[in-house]
Parts: sequence; C-alpha cells; structure tokens
Amino acid sequence: MAETPYGFDTLQIHAGARPDPATGARQTPIYQNSGYVFRDADHAAALFNLQEVGYIYSRLTNPTVMTLAERIASLEGGVGAVCTSSGHAAQIMALFPLMQPGDNIIASTRLYGGTVTQFTHTIRRFGWEARFVDTDDLAAVEALADGRTRAIFAESIANPGGYVTDIPALAEIAGRIGVPLIIDNTSASPYLCRPIEMGATIVVHSTTKFLTGNGTVIGGCIVDSGKFDWLASDRFPSMTEPEPAYHGLKFAETFGPMAYTFHGIAIGLRDLGMTMAPQNAFLTLLGTETLSLRMQKHVANAEAVAAWLEKDDRVESVTYAGLASSPWYDRAKRLYPRGAGSLFTFALKGGYDACVKVVNSVELFSHVANLGDARSLIIHSASTTHRQLTPEQQKAAGADPSMLRLSIGIEDPADLINDLDQAMAKAM
Ligand SMILES: *Cc1c(COP(=O)(O)O)cnc(C)c1O
Repeated sequence: MAETPYGFDTLQIHAGARPDPATGARQTPIYQNSGYVFRDADHAAALFNLQEVGYIYSRLTNPTVMTLAERIASLEGGVGAVCTSSGHAAQIMALFPLMQPGDNIIASTRLYGGTVTQFTHTIRRFGWEARFVDTDDLAAVEALADGRTRAIFAESIANPGGYVTDIPALAEIAGRIGVPLIIDNTSASPYLCRPIEMGATIVVHSTTKFLTGNGTVIGGCIVDSGKFDWLASDRFPSMTEPEPAYHGLKFAETFGPMAYTFHGIAIGLRDLGMTMAPQNAFLTLLGTETLSLRMQKHVANAEAVAAWLEKDDRVESVTYAGLASSPWYDRAKRLYPRGAGSLFTFALKGGYDACVKVVNSVELFSHVANLGDARSLIIHSASTTHRQLTPEQQKAAGADPSMLRLSIGIEDPADLINDLDQAMAKAM
C-alpha cells in the first residue's frame, strides 16, 4: 500500500486492511489468538528460518497488529513498522538493534518527561548513554558525537512546550556523522509531520495519543524509512554481523531495506516480548480512520484557545508555535504547514499556587497525565509528568513550575475558553 498514489485521508482508512480472507469481514477482525497452524513440517521450518513470511505466534506477529503496523508505515511513508506494547517500549525497541554496551545517543533536552527519565537512568543499566543537548544548537549537537554514537533522538513537536524541531537540520548532521535520526512523532502525528520526508531514518510513536485519539489504549510503533545504509560502516553489528540465534543470518544482507523491521520482529519482539495486544491494535485502527479530521479540529481549537490566553491579563506567557509571538512560529509555518499541534503550555502570573488551583477548578478540562485525547486535558507538568526531573531539566524541557500544559481536544472551543476563564477566576 505504501507505494500507491492514494492520499492521506484514503490511506488512514484503507492502508494495511483488506477484507478478511476467511469471512469477507470488511472491518479488520480482532484476531484474539496466540498460535497459528502450520501447513506441514516444511512450512514450519521455513517460517522459523525466516525463509518465508507468515504467522507463528502472536508475540511476533498477529494479523490485527500487522494491519496497524502497515497502516502507520504507510501514513509515515516508511517501508515497514513494528507495533509495541507502549510508546516507551517502542523507544527501547528502536534503539535495541543499534546499540551495544558502551554506545551512546545524542538526545534533545526537549523530550517527554518519561523519555528523559528512561534515557537518563534506565538505559544506563544496558550500558547505553544519552547525551542531552539543545537541538537548536546544531554545532553542539555535532560536537557531542564520537566513535560510539549510534543515533540522534528528538521529538517533532516537543511536549510540553509545543517546541518544533528543525528535522532537516538534524538529518543533515545525522547523515554527516553516519547514524540514524530517530524522531518521536507522537505529538504531531503523521498528519502534521512526516519526518521521513524531512530526512529522518526511524519514526517512533506512542500510539496511545493522537493515533488512537480517544484515551482507550496504550501502544507504540516504530517505523523504518528503509533508507539507512547499515553496511556503510561496522558500527551496527546487530544489523550486519551473523546472527547466532538465526544460524548466522545477516539481517542487512538478507533483507535489504526491510532489515531493521525484520530485526525488530525476529529479534526484538521475539526476545524482549514488548508486543502489542490485538484488541489494542483494533482500537488504534479505529482511531486512525479519523486522524486527519481530528487533527484539523485539534489544531483549530488550540489556535483559538492559545490566542485567547495570550490576550488575558492573568497569563504571563503562552508557548505555542502556532502563535506569531512564538520564537518557533516561522519554523512551524515552514516545516509544519498544517499546524503546530494541540499541545502547549501557558504560565500564570500567580505562579505555582495559581497553577495548582486552576487544575483543581476546571470542570470541562480533565486533570489527566495523557495527551492526544478527543477530550481536553490539563496538567501541571512540574508536579506530575516532569516531577522526576531536576529544576534545570524541567526548565530545559519547558516544564517550569509556573506553567500548565494543555492538550486541546475537539470540543467546542468557546466551552474550553469559558472553562479556563472560570478556573482562573477562582484561582486568582
Ligand atoms: C506518551 C509519550 C511517550 C510514551 O508513550 P507510552 O505509550 O505512554 O509508553 C513517549 N513520547 C511522547 C512524546 C509521549 O507523548
């Protein structure tokens, strides 16, 4: 499907899906199933040797989950994708084929708080290191690279501040260093941003957010552009060296542009087991069908609410790249012409205390540590999602203690504005 001339609105409904071969069912069935019957012993052997593609066991592949993987790959313009149990699992799974103990990645300081924590502490136990840097300082990004650097990692639109990343500039550096550029495209979704078209190698998602769009399931996805030349250096032995657990098979040599995707399934899911459940894939498939419509409404509502907040006396500042006052406005217009997303923060003149009171006083907004829901959500990042970060990390991530983060939903914008107005009146 990825090669067809269909437009985005068509692909989000049809890519990866076909009438069920057994029943003709038009909607993708939930294959709530763990094992698959082999035709005979030779068929089983061919599947286990990766000589034939098919279904063995749902830790590796499942028809409902594969439909979602194909759909997201198609929407992102990639050659293949692997769905995972969560967005955080997708990040570990994305790095796993690239990294050996002692290797490092260069990561943006402006990342989802949980990702900063995962990269600061947890990946160290694998012997991996993340070197954080302001990705607007391109010279500093390049200066951090050394012989053990294996990837550059950033978010397209960075949660919580609504900061927008210059993906083409980072892609150029990644190309010079000779490592993949990994973009977390969760907050933008492929409707607002297609990182692969801007030179990214790999895209990761928390499908929990806009792709599902209704706050029902946790999930993740890794999309590969198929464009990275693994054989150009000896830095990625998992991709290029004989794999002992597959009789010495070499992924890059055997699978070409599909090498990274096959590795993700055959090694990553097989041995790490961070598998998406078919029921979750089904709910996310339903969400993808309306992605473009929802994103247009998310953006329109975010623009209306941000513009109203910016004019309000009780508000110190609003960081939304869709506002002309944003330092990233021009970059957003150039790279993200369909809109700068629906996540942003605003600072209250009343500081930390006023923020906590607003969170306690909203009626329509929900106080929730999630984003990309059809419902509008509010959170005080400094005391919740970014709580584990140091004050310096909070500031760098755009999660100042006087700031509230909004994930603007698809309700009537006037109702959202009225709710914030009454909550701020109670708080200040
Ligand atoms: C939520 C989120 C994650 C983590 O995803 P989970 O599905 O919660 O594991 C990673 N990156 C971004 C940008 C997110 O918003």
